[in-house]
Amino acid sequence: MSPVLLAESACAVAGAVAGVLIMGAAGHYTFDQSLLPLPVCPLCGHRGPARAYLPILGPLLTVKCGTCRGTGSWWLAIIVQAAMAVLWAMLSGRYGAGWPLASSLILTGLLMTIAVIDFQHRLIPSLLVYPTILFALAGSPLWPGLGFLKSLEGGALGFTLFFALALLARLVFGDGALGGGDVTLAAAIGAICGYPLVVLALALGAFLGGFGALVVMVVRRSPIGTAIPYGPYLIGGVVYVLLSGNTLHPIYSIL
Ligand SMILES: [Zn+2]
Repeated sequence: MSPVLLAESACAVAGAVAGVLIMGAAGHYTFDQSLLPLPVCPLCGHRGPARAYLPILGPLLTVKCGTCRGTGSWWLAIIVQAAMAVLWAMLSGRYGAGWPLASSLILTGLLMTIAVIDFQHRLIPSLLVYPTILFALAGSPLWPGLGFLKSLEGGALGFTLFFALALLARLVFGDGALGGGDVTLAAAIGAICGYPLVVLALALGAFLGGFGALVVMVVRRSPIGTAIPYGPYLIGGVVYVLLSGNTLHPIYSIL
């Protein structure tokens, strides 16, 4: 086995395990607002059996909760764990060893947890977003081509853009269309990508979110402006930028 393939496989396994911890943290957030990363039933909060720690197989084998007999969101757990395995393997292939890999693994772990909690509760937890901003800013000098200033500019621009968008959404659609959590998440995305890539990440996220809202509107026949969780879409935008190499992204060659 080549060293590259070995590293990618190791990252895939670690990603799947991280997916177990992410679902655990999201489950705990539901019950006591803490982020203890242990698998629990998302309906009653009861701790799962030992096999619940197995990535992908765990949720399949424990579809029904032993305590409340509910089926919860085992399919979401499988999707998240499989997605994390693929994502971390791809990041390993993109960055090789070094700080950009370590940083992007930690960041995608934090972002995926935020996405799951927002998807489940339509709530972006400050408890995770603020540490993400601090981590991105603190680690930015170690990213080749990023640096503290670009990271700070990106964060400020993301915050300002989404603050204005949130005000506009409130005027047009009323409360709750775009929340304060989305604004701080945009700041975090800006700090991760830096300026100018923050524009690409947020534009892509907004496009995906708009498309998602349209699909929800058509499928559920709900009125225009119906609030959907935008966090997962915005996170899709930043994950695309991280996968395409963040500061190595082709946009840098045309600027
Ligand atoms: Zn249960």
